[in-house]
Amino acid sequence: MPGPIDLHAHSSVSDGTETPAQLIRAAVAAGLGTVALTDHDSTAGWAEGFTAASGTGITVVPGMELSTRFGWKSVHLLAYLFDPLDAGLVAETARIREARLRRAESIVTRIAADYDLTWADVLAQTAVGTTIGRPHIADALVARGHVTTRSAAFESILHPRTGYFEPHYAPGPLEGVELVVAAGGVPVLAHPGTRGREGVIPEDRLRALVDAGLFGLEIDHRENTKGGRERLHELADKYGLAVTGSSDYHGAGKPNRLGENTTAPQVLERLVARGTGSSPFRD
Ligand code: AMP
Ligand code: FE
Ligand code: FE
Ligand code: ZN
Repeated sequence: MPGPIDLHAHSSVSDGTETPAQLIRAAVAAGLGTVALTDHDSTAGWAEGFTAASGTGITVVPGMELSTRFGWKSVHLLAYLFDPLDAGLVAETARIREARLRRAESIVTRIAADYDLTWADVLAQTAVGTTIGRPHIADALVARGHVTTRSAAFESILHPRTGYFEPHYAPGPLEGVELVVAAGGVPVLAHPGTRGREGVIPEDRLRALVDAGLFGLEIDHRENTKGGRERLHELADKYGLAVTGSSDYHGAGKPNRLGENTTAPQVLERLVARGTGSSPFRD
């Protein structure tokens, strides 16, 4: 339906603080016409999101934020309208979620040597099937009173410089794009400009992603720097990539508000025309 288009939001299926139904109700209350549900490495919220959207008029674009990794750098890949039962993607996301679980246990073991924190504290911040991540460790640290907010945990105990950090297995960005495309989906690089102009993906590597079917760049995102955005616009123009904008809403887990950045209707139209693995939900 007409109204602002926000193509990046998380529910409690990953590290958002609202259930998929609560998230959809918040999107309706915020006046959005379209919202994409993009939990980390999981499609488990789609059905609940669709059900909650029923009768509200809002359009829900089914999606996911796929974890990929280039060396030590985590690279997030938004994926839309893919087949949620695609065997390749199902197997890879299961592998990533399993690796996330083992890595979270390992981080917690090391933190627990210095702070009063147990694995049960962290599990208490999740539900069955949640894609676990550092935000859940952060929430457990808040519950234990070691820090006051999730963001404060990231700036202190969970900061990579403290030594508790470790990465988890994830496929490379090119493999990620190939998996999404093979599943009929539409891949968009998530917040690719957070590390400044010089930190934007090198052009030859971007070209490989474009050749594999990359659709767009999420340029309008609060964490992209000014220099990063300028470089990304140059690259989008040169390679004919779509430009998206979104909030990356995490409920109470981040200050990001639904609709704070939006995507043009023409871009959504092209995205929907490209996706063949699933359809936007509207009722
Ligand atoms: P992980 O995927 O386990 O490495 O954790 C990364 C996630 O933590 C990202 O998806 C963000 O949602 C969240 N995150 C990163 N930095 C912050 C922060 N400063 N405050 C709140 N959440 C954050
Ligand atoms: Fe997140
Ligand atoms: Fe992300
Ligand atoms: Zn996100």
